[in-house]
Amino acid sequence: MAQVTCSFCGRNKKDVDLMVSGISAHICNFCIDQAYQILGEEEKTKKQDKKPKFKLKKPKELTEYLNQYVIGQGEAKKVLSVAVYNHYKRLLQKDNHDDIKIEKSNIIMVGDTGTGKTYLAKTLAKVLEVPFCIADATVLTEAGYVGEDVESILTRLLQSADYNVEAAERGIVYIDEIDKIARKSDNPSITRDVSGEGVQQAMLKLLEGTTVNVPPQGGRKHPDQKMIAVNTENILFICGGAFDGIARHIANRLNTQPLGFSKKTDHELIDRNNLLQYVTAPDLKSFGLIPELIGRLPVLTHLDPLDKDTLKSILTEPKNALTKQYKKLMDMEGVKLEFEESGVDYIVEKAVEYNLGARGLRSICEAIITDAMYELPSDSETKELVVNRKYAQAQFDKSKFKKLQVA
Ligand code: ADP
Repeated sequence: MAQVTCSFCGRNKKDVDLMVSGISAHICNFCIDQAYQILGEEEKTKKQDKKPKFKLKKPKELTEYLNQYVIGQGEAKKVLSVAVYNHYKRLLQKDNHDDIKIEKSNIIMVGDTGTGKTYLAKTLAKVLEVPFCIADATVLTEAGYVGEDVESILTRLLQSADYNVEAAERGIVYIDEIDKIARKSDNPSITRDVSGEGVQQAMLKLLEGTTVNVPPQGGRKHPDQKMIAVNTENILFICGGAFDGIARHIANRLNTQPLGFSKKTDHELIDRNNLLQYVTAPDLKSFGLIPELIGRLPVLTHLDPLDKDTLKSILTEPKNALTKQYKKLMDMEGVKLEFEESGVDYIVEKAVEYNLGARGLRSICEAIITDAMYELPSDSETKELVVNRKYAQAQFDKSKFKKLQVA
């Protein structure tokens, strides 16, 4: 009988662990192994060649999508949509024949707390289907000090990308409370400013684009820890902060513009209720951001304060508006929940009174509806609940909120 040999390497059957036979050929375990490796390599290069995976939408489409979730903030939506569109267009541009390099358009947003900064960034990441994370600038310190290294920001991005480095490298990072790392005083510090200027310095490279070693589990870098190299060149950084007190500074600047630059009528046109709309990069510098950092956040926009009408719309209109969420929850219990206009107005008034912004709407609603959500699932008789001013007020007065105010 003829000897069985591997049709690829010619090894004899007795010299191998396994020989798989086909119709007119055989393959040994060594060759299977090798073929499998080749297959793996091939897959890898194919993946690298593939175009970046994200859903690029045109600026107007992005804004339309944002409109479904975020109320108002027209200016921020427009600026963000353009910046995000350009950023991702930059990623699609592969062959650079003409030496024109499109630069990154990291973004900085100035707006009171609870006006939708985080929400805008998050919603954009959702529509683009890219990994997203929120980092808090206040926990960061200069390397070597108690706190987190700036690289730890990327740990969260890696986690949200399921440790797929390639995906993380085109993600969006929202850095909250960027104003809290402002330089502590206008003079270059005598004592080291490790959580202010030091952090700003440490962030520069990250924002611009560099390869950083990221501790996969976060925390401090440790010599024995295995690091993951992440290139930040295509990561979009969106920073946000309330910049408390900057409005006063803007007002001063507007009032003291040199003659000739501002006509008297301009002063009259200034909208004193929304001074943040006039924010400029020099204002951020006066606030304590270093010019190098401002330079790496070239797109600057502001968020408008939320007035009563906007809060009312936030409560009732967006796709997943709070009132719709509560209605759905009650619906699942077979209870028809209705928010009367007077009830909605009451909730909005309280949010304004407690100065809680849109974030407060949720806690006020909870205070009003918790009792019903506790009782109704065990109550088969009640099929309807109407939240009007009377009901809302009675529930609110019983709640912790009221006590908080007294205390
Ligand atoms: P911040 O500006 O402090 O980052 P957030 O974006 O975290 O505020 O807003 C808190 C919550 O308030 C959001 O999760 C969202 O539910 C709601 N919210 C704030 N602003 C708006 C808005 N303009 N439209 C719709 N919802 C909003």
